[in-house]
Amino acid sequence: MILVLNSGSSSLKYALFDGAARVAAGTVERIGEPGSPTPDHEAAIAQVADQVGLSTLPLDAIGHRVVHGGAGFQKPTVIDDDVAAEIRSLIPLAPLHNPANLQGIDLTRRLRPDVPHVAVFDTAFHATLPAAASTYALDRAVSRRYGIRRYGFHGTSCAYVSRRTAALLARPIEELNLIVLHLGNGASATAIQSGRSVETSMGLTPLEGLAMGSRTGDIDPAVAFLLARQAGMSVDDLDDLYHHHGGLRGLCGDNDMRTVLRRAADGDGDARLALDVYCHRIRRYVGAYYAVLGRLDAIAFTAGIGENSPEVRARTLAGLLRLGITVDPARNATGPAERVISADGAPVSVCVVPTDEERAIAEEVAALLNQSAPAPVVSSVDKT
Ligand code: ADP
Repeated sequence: MILVLNSGSSSLKYALFDGAARVAAGTVERIGEPGSPTPDHEAAIAQVADQVGLSTLPLDAIGHRVVHGGAGFQKPTVIDDDVAAEIRSLIPLAPLHNPANLQGIDLTRRLRPDVPHVAVFDTAFHATLPAAASTYALDRAVSRRYGIRRYGFHGTSCAYVSRRTAALLARPIEELNLIVLHLGNGASATAIQSGRSVETSMGLTPLEGLAMGSRTGDIDPAVAFLLARQAGMSVDDLDDLYHHHGGLRGLCGDNDMRTVLRRAADGDGDARLALDVYCHRIRRYVGAYYAVLGRLDAIAFTAGIGENSPEVRARTLAGLLRLGITVDPARNATGPAERVISADGAPVSVCVVPTDEERAIAEEVAALLNQSAPAPVVSSVDKT
């Protein structure tokens, strides 16, 4: 069995897999928030340990989602003290995420030192970005000194969704040029050629790119200069403004897309603008990534908004018939969770493909364990 832990800054998701079967799963929410029964990550891990019976569970491994793997971690990695120290050294690149990931790692390594702990990095899938896509046009000496480049995130989800999309279309992934639109609270677009990430909208951190639930996404860097000089904002003020008061929430006060859609349908101007900005930004990336890929075979929508909002999908891709992109209204409205929503015979297959980060992590951990397992001893019984 493989236990997967996905610790965010204020939540801890877990799932337990026995082969392909998910035998337990859950989420501890509002960790450390006022009035929450879970004061910190240690308490959250203790709750999960209790729920799954961690101390006696027959485990093959524990898989940990780690958001930032820097330039060094390009694949899932068994965690020893050196690996843990290296993940710690990457905290300046992911101050919100890596500390929570590390706490989960440290606590569970202490509770279950007998099983391999494997780190699965959000950045790893994007290790294939060509230099033209990963390099900021910034003084190279400064970039080198501080590790400043575009890393990309949501990689585990993108890899999983691209494999599922190829299966849905019954085509080898090596033949496909795809755009994956991961639209959750965080949101990103990724261009994938033959299963390899060649462009992605998140950069040094998960702040760049699409407008998100509460993050600004792309914004002229000079906005920070103006606010520092004119409004006297500190770096921490700006960090908070960009991460927590941008995106849908910054534009209309709500970060939940369901509420934004309801308000927009009722004619609320702020919610309409928020929705317009949100969809326009995605559309701009689709056009840009189409050009990067040269030929586009499929677009896959995934995560909370991508999987569940026909309206966002339809608005984002409206009027692109000349690019071979269509959305069939009936297929878009309803159907099985995983489906094609473009017209039959359309040059670009538009798809809805649910992501499953915990399953994707478990699959990566299982693949690593199988690689490193000693070759099975062939018994005399097997030989006959
Ligand atoms: P996270 O990035 O935290 O994993 P999710 O992938 O769960 O987030 O996505 C959360 C977003 O999905 C929220 O904005 C939520 O409003 C949106 N969402 C969930 N269900 C629907 C729905 N039926 N229609 C529109 N948006 C939805």
